[in-house]
Amino acid sequence: MLSLEHQSAEDFRDTPYGRQLLAGFRRLLFAPELEREFRRYLGYQARLAQLMGACLLLLVVGGYLYVERRLFAHSEPQWLRELTLLRVLQMAPGVAILIMTLFHRRIRLIANRLFPVLLVLVGTIAARIDIQYEILQPELAFRYGAGLLIVCSFFFLGITFWRALASAAAIVLFDVMMAALILPSNEMQVHWISVSYYVLLLVIGAISRYIHEYSQREQFLVRKLLGWVAQHDSMTGLANRRSFDTALKQVMLQARRDHQPLALLLLDLDNFKAYNDNLGHPAGDALIRNFSDLLGSFSRRPMDLAARVGGEEFALLLHNCDARSAQAIAGQILSALAERAMPHPASPQGAFATTSIGIAVWKPGQTAEQLYQAADAALYGAKQAGKNRYLMS
Ligand code: GH3
Ligand code: MG
Ligand code: MG
Repeated sequence: MLSLEHQSAEDFRDTPYGRQLLAGFRRLLFAPELEREFRRYLGYQARLAQLMGACLLLLVVGGYLYVERRLFAHSEPQWLRELTLLRVLQMAPGVAILIMTLFHRRIRLIANRLFPVLLVLVGTIAARIDIQYEILQPELAFRYGAGLLIVCSFFFLGITFWRALASAAAIVLFDVMMAALILPSNEMQVHWISVSYYVLLLVIGAISRYIHEYSQREQFLVRKLLGWVAQHDSMTGLANRRSFDTALKQVMLQARRDHQPLALLLLDLDNFKAYNDNLGHPAGDALIRNFSDLLGSFSRRPMDLAARVGGEEFALLLHNCDARSAQAIAGQILSALAERAMPHPASPQGAFATTSIGIAVWKPGQTAEQLYQAADAALYGAKQAGKNRYLMS
């Protein structure tokens, strides 16, 4: 099983995954956004099982119905009519699930939420049929249906622990209520044996599901954390070069599709080598972190991205941003850095740390590499022109 030592999780407390690992999840509940993500993941993982479950339901219930129609055709015609109706009702959720899975993703998400309700429906009908069997043929002791559905709520179908527990408890409750209404009191006493068997299945299912879901949640967080580590720079928490390259291609496709402008800013700290030489490497690292924090605050929209693409080189990708806005933002970055007034003892540009910025706006037909080169050339130009400024390509 994947696991993270407490100390390692501590290193990632600035990610939602690290925070959740540290906070724990004994009640099997994450922070709301993460919980939604986990349920989507669970639903996605359980899709095949749900589909097979629906097929199995149709097959088994259909099979029972076939046998029962031969069994009761002459002896119990009244019960057979009722039974046929109940069996058809029991199969309906299976048909509904099969139809829903053929449709759009959003419908499937709703289907996931409906699952516990459908299970309770099928389970309650199973309990009703079991009770009737207790009356008609006690020697057959057909008490499997509801029990099976109780077990199913906990396994295979991607239903979270608390919902599964609620579904299983509802089936038991409905069974007791129906039995109390239908059975005479002496038979009710025998029925409590069935109830105790259901409760036992519920307890066993709940314990196993709790342990299983706890480890599923842990694996989910660790996997997400690994993905996050692969995409981010460990020192600053900004996107790394690899995820920047991927994002650049994606955002370019989007810009082309939507006919929207796209701006790329490349930034390089001025006289950083002298800063390191004067104040030492740790102070240099601190300046990089401080600047990253500042740059990150300029990535404001969901498709914007701030990345550390080299030692003291950064990129800011701005979706739906034209040349004028890009220049305005570059100007704001220079001002924000000046406001932070981080002393630089060896800068020809003044007493404080500064940066140079190269801007390129995507032109139709330009590749990602060409856009990057254009911004890089502009950055070089800004350095040549005296640093602490921005230049358009
Ligand atoms: P310019 O104004 O022309 O950009 O000059 P510069 O000195 O900033 O440029 P140069 O690229 O020559 O120097 C970059 C220096 O950044 C070299 C390297 O020692 C330092 N550096 C790169 N990565 C790190 C890092 O992670 N931490 C620290 N402290 N320094 C780094
Ligand atoms: Mg550099
Ligand atoms: Mg530099």
